[in-house]
Amino acid sequence: MPFASLGLHEPLLAAIVKAGYTQPTPIQEQAIASVLDGRDVLGCAQTGTGKTAAFSLPILQRLLESPSPHKKQTNSPNRPIRCLILSPTRELAGQIGENIETYAADSGLKHVVIYGGVKQHPQTKALREGVDIVVATPGRLIDLMEQGHVKLGSIETLVLDEADRMLDMGFIEDIWRILSYMPKDRQSLLFSATMPTRIASLAAAMLHDPVQIHIAPKMPAAESIEQRLYLVEWGDKTKLLKHLLEHEDVTRALVFVETKRRADVVVAELQAAGLGADVIHSDRPQHARQRALENFKSGKKPLLVASDIAARGLDVTDISHVINYELPSESEVYVHRIGRTGRAEAKGISMSFCCADERTRLDDIEKLLGEPVPLIEDQPYPSFLPRKKAKAAEVEDPRKTTGVRSNRRPSRRRRL
Ligand code: AMP
Repeated sequence: MPFASLGLHEPLLAAIVKAGYTQPTPIQEQAIASVLDGRDVLGCAQTGTGKTAAFSLPILQRLLESPSPHKKQTNSPNRPIRCLILSPTRELAGQIGENIETYAADSGLKHVVIYGGVKQHPQTKALREGVDIVVATPGRLIDLMEQGHVKLGSIETLVLDEADRMLDMGFIEDIWRILSYMPKDRQSLLFSATMPTRIASLAAAMLHDPVQIHIAPKMPAAESIEQRLYLVEWGDKTKLLKHLLEHEDVTRALVFVETKRRADVVVAELQAAGLGADVIHSDRPQHARQRALENFKSGKKPLLVASDIAARGLDVTDISHVINYELPSESEVYVHRIGRTGRAEAKGISMSFCCADERTRLDDIEKLLGEPVPLIEDQPYPSFLPRKKAKAAEVEDPRKTTGVRSNRRPSRRRRL
């Protein structure tokens, strides 16, 4: 199906060609016409499905086709903000802004990206000069609203992107507050990678008769992502990581951990070992996060340790390895994480470390995948996971009996 048959006009079609897109993705096929019709949309889809273009392209077309009701202000510094896109993280907000920049080039529409951790002056200057679209994280947006720099009374379309992450990050009150400043008859689009009850409740409260779109998370394609499981004791994880980084052909790796503190500890250990590693998490200043991302993309520091929240939505190609230093508590997150590699026909490898405490997480992941993650037994720090606590004694652990670490391949296959 060509983009033109979805109702998109020049110059957006030209921008799409320039971006190198030939076919719409499934979410674009399903969402673009509905957004053009002015419908509300509830989209269950993750980053990587092309959802940014799925909402941005029709929004831009609507803005271009229907002149602002505040016509006399359109070319004045006080032109009204007509579209607000809320994102949970600064990185995702930045990426949405870059996409809009590409699609809206030469259209005359203006946008600004607003997030915290950087000076507000360039943002308030852009607002003063007039923008049609604001892409923002909730905290800084509220800050600027309180200072009188942002007025939301003319919003025609609201997009809530990665809504589940926003709730995970504690933004729910901020969201309600922001919603209260907007006209009720606006168009609203809500996208979320997962659809737990609290998202369904938020959707029910803020959407009117939405078109529902569900794009199932792309299961890791066996042909493009080779999944590997390493059973390892908690205290041996960093040693195993260093060993693998030395012995594998790792060109660019994303290392996932569960907490900011763990991220700091792991990156310090990798740096102490002389490895080019950096870290991103929400406690780091924005400039440091930006630099870490640039060094990761350019290959200057090819190892990036990240928490899920900070890494969510990062669009970096050519990641040779995704390393789950810790398994995620939600099994779908595993699929999102490993989907960072093996993109665009390239082959990728995911390496997941699992210690005894993470056994339930592994069970959930394998249940979702519908098959076990292949176990790598030939590694220097093997551990064993008993099927049940009562049977633990049946499983032979060479280190328990000899007190000496064994480099021998474990003779038993994993029994869970
Ligand atoms: P998103 O899910 O919006 O973060 O998009 C993920 C990546 O897919 C981005 O790099 C987009 O530029 C790219 N993309 C979006 N739509 C298409 C398309 N129709 N064809 C090819 N690439 C696309």
